[in-house]
Amino acid sequence: MLNQTRIACLTLDVEADHHDLTRQRHYEALEHEPTWQWLTEFSASRGLPWTAFVVGELLETRPGLSDRLMATGWELGLHSYSHDPRRPDTLEEIRRGKAAFRAAFGHDPVGYRAPLGRITSAGLARLRAEGFQYDASVFPTWHPGKANRLAWPTRPTLVDAAGHPVLDGAQAAAEGPCLVEIPFAVLPRLRLIVSVSFLRLLGLGVYGPLLDRLGLGPVAVIDCHMHDLAPAPSAFAQLPRFWQGVYSRRPGEGPALLAWLVDWLAAAGYQFRAVGEVAALVRQEAGCG
Ligand SMILES: [Zn+2]
Repeated sequence: MLNQTRIACLTLDVEADHHDLTRQRHYEALEHEPTWQWLTEFSASRGLPWTAFVVGELLETRPGLSDRLMATGWELGLHSYSHDPRRPDTLEEIRRGKAAFRAAFGHDPVGYRAPLGRITSAGLARLRAEGFQYDASVFPTWHPGKANRLAWPTRPTLVDAAGHPVLDGAQAAAEGPCLVEIPFAVLPRLRLIVSVSFLRLLGLGVYGPLLDRLGLGPVAVIDCHMHDLAPAPSAFAQLPRFWQGVYSRRPGEGPALLAWLVDWLAAAGYQFRAVGEVAALVRQEAGCG
């Protein structure tokens, strides 16, 4: 199925503005009404099913957030409890996050995304044991000074009990609970991330020709934050200088860049699906119960 279809998943990380890069928490972009209105109307008019990964702690501290998210009709997953990059996937983060999610929405999350994509093999093993059906955290690329994930497959794969990708799905299904890792979209060969932040950083002059020439894989998971789409002046003022440089590029162009990417994906034959639907297809193909 995944070999015959091109699927794009739009994902929104619901967190404080520039969550891990600022001393204090700010919510100007997260709660920017005109941008929420634009995003929900744009998505409804184009039939775009988003998956939103929400920080558990915010469900406890930001009144109205859970109602806002439920009103979208989007798939909802968990983006850790506290969005602390030093403990992206500890058992406490996962369990406290699950409890906050359950209290807000009445059921457990089936999908997880680690802060900054910093999922570990041990964390994947914990998610598998905790009953999650999928994780969508891996950037299958290389960051200077950070994790080297060039060896990770760029397409969705089942994960074994040790948290490693398994290419033989039937074997993984026979070995116990099925957890699917669904990595972020990268340009083939270059492994350059394709996300709204990166479109803002490098622009369409870079991405337009590269996407037309290299395309994307059969499943393209696109990342986005509210601070990519809406102004976040208080958080921006606290960013380290490097990140101010990054986020001062193309101010206000986030919505137009997102719309451009949606148009590109549609023209390239991609169908838009929630991440959970991709996980369900992989699990079904592997024979997971
Ligand atoms: Zn995040």
